[in-house]
Amino acid sequence: MLVITTVAGVRARRQELWRQGLRVAFVPTMGALHEGHLALVRRGRELADEVWASVFVNPTQFGPGEDFERYPRNLERDVELLSREGAALVFAPSVKEMYPHPPEVRISLPTLSQHLCGAHRPGHFSGVALVVAKLFNIVQPEVALFGAKDFQQAVIIQRLVEDLNFPVRIEVIPTVREADGLAMSSRNAYLQEGERRQAQALWQALQAGREAVLGGERSGRELEKVMLNALRRHQGVYPQYVAAVDPHTLEPVDRVADRVLLAIAALVGTTRLIDNLVVEVPR
Ligand code: AMP
Repeated sequence: MLVITTVAGVRARRQELWRQGLRVAFVPTMGALHEGHLALVRRGRELADEVWASVFVNPTQFGPGEDFERYPRNLERDVELLSREGAALVFAPSVKEMYPHPPEVRISLPTLSQHLCGAHRPGHFSGVALVVAKLFNIVQPEVALFGAKDFQQAVIIQRLVEDLNFPVRIEVIPTVREADGLAMSSRNAYLQEGERRQAQALWQALQAGREAVLGGERSGRELEKVMLNALRRHQGVYPQYVAAVDPHTLEPVDRVADRVLLAIAALVGTTRLIDNLVVEVPR
C-alpha cells in the first residue's frame, strides 16, 4: 500500500491508474480508524479496482473550542489497518499541504446546514464541504463512500456533488455499531469507563423513537418527546438536539408520512456524540 503525503504524488499515481483504465473508490477519513471506516473500505473494494483512503484531521471543520488539537491521531496504526483491509493508497497530507494559505473560497450551505448539527456547529459543514471538494479534485475518484452515522454530512456531500457537478458517485454505508448499539466513532475513545455505559442512551432513545413510530405515533413533536424522555433516563447525558426530520431536506416533520430520520446529539460527560436512525412507516 502506498502512503502519499503530497497532492502532486496523488495526482501522479492517479494518472497511472487512468492509463491502466483502473477505477478508484475513495474513503475520506480523519483517521483514528475503527470498524465503521473499514466497512467503507470493504464496500469500496466491491465497487472499484482500487480503494484509496485519506487520513486528514481537517482544521476548517472544527470550531473554536472544539477538539481539533486533541482529536486522536495515530497514522501508523491507521496505515496498518488500511493495508490489512486491502486499501491501495493512503493520502495523509499535512495541514500546510492542504491549506498552503488560508482558503479564500467558502462553500456555504444556507439551508441544509441550518438543521441538526449545523445549528450547533457554525461553519462546520462549510469546512467539510471545502475539504471534500478539495479531496475530490485531488483524488478524482469514480465513487466515494460515506457513513450514514454522519447523516447530515452525507446529505450535504450528495448535494455538493450535484450542485457543483463533481463526476463522482456517492455511496452511503449503514452505521456500524458496537454490540450494545453504540455507533462506532473515533470520539468514543474520549469516554471514561462509566460514560461508555451512559453512551448507550443515544441508541436506546432512537430505538424508543422507532418503537413509537411502529406503534402508530406520527407526530414529529411527540417522537422528539419520546426520545428525549428515553435520554433523560440516563445520568450524565446532556441532549443537544433530539429531532424527527425529513431524511432529504432535514426539515422538522410535522406528521410522518412514509419515512422519518430520527437524530440525536448529546454530550456524555464532555464528549459530544451523535447518532441517527431512518424509520420506515409500516404499510
Ligand atoms: P470520520 O473519520 O469520523 O470523519 O469519518 C470518516 C467516514 O467514516 C465518514 O464518512 C463517516 O460517516 C464514516 N463513519 C464514521 N463512523 C462510522 C460508523 N460507525 N459506521 C459507518 N461509517 C462511519
